[in-house]
Amino acid sequence: MATQTAARKQTLVSGEDYINSLRGRKLKVYLFGKLVEDTVEHPMIRPSINAVAETYDLAMREPDLASATSHLTGERVNRFLNIAMTRDDVVLQNKMQRRLGQLTGTCFQRCVGMDALNSLYSTTFEIDDKYQTDYHERLKSYIKEVQTNNLVIGGAMTDVKGDRGLAPHEQADPDLFVHVVERTDAGVYVSGAKAHQTGCLNSHWLIVMPTMRLTENDKDYAIVGAIPVDAEGITYIYGRQSCDTRSMEGSELDQGNANFSGQEAMVILERVFIPNELIFMDGETEFASMLVERFTCYHRRSYVCKSGVGDVLIGAAAQIAEYNGAEKASHIKDKLVEMTHLNETIYATGIASSYQSKPTASGAYQNDDMIANVCKHHVTKMPYEIGRLAQDLAGGLVVTMPSEKDYRSEEVGHLLEKYLKGRADVSTENRMRILRLIENMTLGRNAVGYLTESMHGAGSPQAQRIQIARGMQIEFKKQLAKELAGIEEKKREQLTSEISDYFGRVFDTDV
Ligand SMILES: Cc1cc2nc3c(=O)[nH]c(=O)nc-3n(C[C@H](O)[C@H](O)[C@H](O)COP(=O)(O)OP(=O)(O)OC[C@H]3O[C@@H](n4cnc5c(N)ncnc54)[C@H](O)[C@@H]3O)c2cc1C
Ligand code: SF4
Repeated sequence: MATQTAARKQTLVSGEDYINSLRGRKLKVYLFGKLVEDTVEHPMIRPSINAVAETYDLAMREPDLASATSHLTGERVNRFLNIAMTRDDVVLQNKMQRRLGQLTGTCFQRCVGMDALNSLYSTTFEIDDKYQTDYHERLKSYIKEVQTNNLVIGGAMTDVKGDRGLAPHEQADPDLFVHVVERTDAGVYVSGAKAHQTGCLNSHWLIVMPTMRLTENDKDYAIVGAIPVDAEGITYIYGRQSCDTRSMEGSELDQGNANFSGQEAMVILERVFIPNELIFMDGETEFASMLVERFTCYHRRSYVCKSGVGDVLIGAAAQIAEYNGAEKASHIKDKLVEMTHLNETIYATGIASSYQSKPTASGAYQNDDMIANVCKHHVTKMPYEIGRLAQDLAGGLVVTMPSEKDYRSEEVGHLLEKYLKGRADVSTENRMRILRLIENMTLGRNAVGYLTESMHGAGSPQAQRIQIARGMQIEFKKQLAKELAGIEEKKREQLTSEISDYFGRVFDTDV
């Protein structure tokens, strides 16, 4: 069935074009047990749309940063839709992500699609090489279309997964992982559910992908395909965020960051059709792990977005210290240095991973797996510490401050004006605004993206430790130690010739 998304042919340029492209779609979205009539104007949803719109506006304001020349069309396209064919392309993704984190203070939702397209580009090339399938050509046609129309892609990898100890085919309910339920000459029907789907209502397309390594018995689960967000058979159930209903109370101040937020929802697929030309893997189970590993490799260093958000939080912490008249104290300065040190550690590892990219067989560049995992592992911890320090500098008022309605009330407003005053030359309202922003980022709506998403997005901490363990080359390191300790004599040349894998990339002089 033709959907509005599939039929779209108009190129979207500005954030406003993008917002208008979301209007009038017939999405089945549930929130608080009711169907949402208009997602675009819903006060709880709109800030997340504004965050995506910023990815369009940035490409207009700073085209070198947020757009790129597509090797497929030769045209300038939004960087979120570009396939990285050089190391610089990979690096610039990170720079754009930090900038957008600074400008929105939240998750701008477009990176999962970017990382999905890039990991699929190299994986489909290698599937075709083995099986003489035509997934890569199909994918290239699809990418050209989404690049030309400048569309938003959601990457849907995480299944609901049921019993974590069982494989997809072993689950009591087969729908706990997305799978093919029927095949026709024209395509496949899929059923199942994807969890925590970032920006799904704000996307034009969803790309469904397997979530883990699969075995021969999981053939029907090895399905990758593009689905219009408004396809028949999809139900969305909106994810709650801490303090989300503040956006419906009519107070801008109490929201902390009224303009921007992230978005997650559960996506339920009931016999959703994917035509052959939009299927990019079907049954090649051994390539599921390649796709998952390449996707998570890109995505784990995409988390430099958090360093951009961290810049905002560090700024807010410094500002409240100033408003409180405490900014000259040495421990305050030291805490701001500590926050910056942690924040730059996230950025440093992410950008290093991108700089250490290497070409895949398809020609697309893939960033370094070891440092991407180290980056993401930092992200599971450091934003929490940065948030702790921000709350330290903010003082207890960050969680005890009365509402904007009290502040504006005739009866008690003047009391709050007087008693919430910090430094005499700073307005009480500005002090309240910064405190609400810190609350928003460390406890409220945008703590979803800055904290818990940092923990679990692109895989929970243990997933990174497994990858780090796989790549840490401990036997080689033991050789180094034994040689220096005089336990085992090895020729220096031999130690050098044994350099491979991660160290092969570290010492590669072809940079
Ligand atoms: C805000 C947010 C946004 C997200 N956006 C997206 C998105 O856009 N697209 C997408 O595809 N995914 C997205 N994710 C999903 C994310 O990748 C998953 O949350 C993550 O992979 C962890 O899966 P889970 O939430 O099911 O947790 P679980 O897998 O249930 O993990 C919970 C704990 O159990 C442990 N555990 C799990 N399985 C096992 C096992 N077999 N043996 C031992 N220990 C185990 C884990 O290590 C962890 O400590 C998002 C998540 C969040 C929180
Ligand atoms: S959490 Fe960061 S990397 Fe992931 S989609 Fe949001 S902004 Fe992009």
